[in-house]
Amino acid sequence: MRNFKKHILILLVLCMAVPAFPQVAVFRLNASAEPREIYASYLYGAKWMSLNHFFKTYGELRSVNTEDWTVTGTLGGKEYIFYANSGFYQRNGEWRHLPCTVERLSYGLYIPEAEFVRILQEDAFPELRHNVSADEYLLSPGSFSITDIRLREMKNGTVIRVKTGKDFPKEHCRIWQGNNQYLYISVYGATADMNALAGRYSSGVIREIIPVMAKETLQFNVKLRMKIDGIDHFIEAGTGDIIISLRHTYQKDMVPADNSIAKKRWLIDTIVIDPGHGGKRSPGAVAPDGTMEKDIVLDVSRRLGRLLENKLGVNVVYTRNSDTFVPLWQRPKIANEAAGKLFISIHCNSARSSQAYGTETFLLSPKSTEKSIEIAARENKVIELEEDTERYEKLLSPEQYILSTMAQSVYMKESEALAQAVESTFKSRMGCRSRGVKQASFIVLIGPAMPAILTEIGFISNWKELSNLNKDSYRQEVAHSLYLAVSDFKENYEREIIE
Ligand SMILES: [Zn+2]
Repeated sequence: MRNFKKHILILLVLCMAVPAFPQVAVFRLNASAEPREIYASYLYGAKWMSLNHFFKTYGELRSVNTEDWTVTGTLGGKEYIFYANSGFYQRNGEWRHLPCTVERLSYGLYIPEAEFVRILQEDAFPELRHNVSADEYLLSPGSFSITDIRLREMKNGTVIRVKTGKDFPKEHCRIWQGNNQYLYISVYGATADMNALAGRYSSGVIREIIPVMAKETLQFNVKLRMKIDGIDHFIEAGTGDIIISLRHTYQKDMVPADNSIAKKRWLIDTIVIDPGHGGKRSPGAVAPDGTMEKDIVLDVSRRLGRLLENKLGVNVVYTRNSDTFVPLWQRPKIANEAAGKLFISIHCNSARSSQAYGTETFLLSPKSTEKSIEIAARENKVIELEEDTERYEKLLSPEQYILSTMAQSVYMKESEALAQAVESTFKSRMGCRSRGVKQASFIVLIGPAMPAILTEIGFISNWKELSNLNKDSYRQEVAHSLYLAVSDFKENYEREIIE
């Protein structure tokens, strides 16, 4: 009996001592989010927290198996499985080791707080920070907000641009298609002024976009007018904007017959001209006589621009209109921001052999094969001169390449038609030797959300083509040929819409 009393006493002391420790672990998604308390408990002198409660609060608690005590949850697009009394867990099907075992307590499975924070930092929340004085964890210190949604219709697709405040992990964005003519875009950890976003977004294939804020996820329910052939998305380097392209076959009945404003949106009213290279840093190819590619292409670009403005009445935007250095990544951005409908990059070729001559015009290769990267290597080389080379390493990694090029792949057919028109006009009008229409991984062609080509108007390493390119009259002819090709292309492209 005495012994029993002693036990009760110890228990009482313990019960009184425990409330002195907070029985929660505090997390905050970002600086502007509310703090959330996750159930915790003290075990072996450390704080352990509930995995079940964490998944429920910040991710998705997929399933709890109470027979063998397995907890499955998702966080930032990855699936985790934890097991009771086990020092192993799974992440996306891959086994990983823990320095401790996961324990089963009152609220599901518990893991030492410090261990779990390490897992979060490794994966879903690389920026996770501990605010020691408040004893709370900030999951994504740089919170970002969604400020606007913009829609653009193209002949065979609709592009949704979700404008965000900053770069965020691409795993935080999920896009999927329901079988009910709905498309869902969810962005984990985003904040937004819901009143500002709740505007009317009806355009082309999109009937309505309804923003919904649920827990820590901002979701857009996109109601579609028709079945679409495919969805691609990527996060634009630099702006962090989410670009989603919906591919569909153009149908006249999509645009009401009397809606001339909607029809106008399809017309080629803005053309972006991209004179290659520029500035002291990037002269491009340099001929034996000192002629620089950057000067020739700027002159041809301006001549082309004047013809397009005067004869076609279109708006012309230059990615550079002086001898300045513009990084490759910025060029497509300029084009997209100007709502361009065509992108034409102008370059001069050069080869080790002075025998090589002729013109060739490129569109983006849908696959980043070593060969296509090699072809583009010379024009991409300029990135070595830029400060932010990491930007491109990511872009050219095989997985990222596929994602990044998807927006451009929507316009592949149009880009090819334009490239063909350019090559055949050079040949028929100027008697140039056409080396053909080719595909390669030019960085500058990855970003534009519009038909885009890169044309090499001649070799400055070939003495004959060099002396031609040094003549004003010849450069005017090159510009005139490009103008005729664009004009031809524009007429064919718009015919279907206007009729
Ligand atoms: Zn070049």
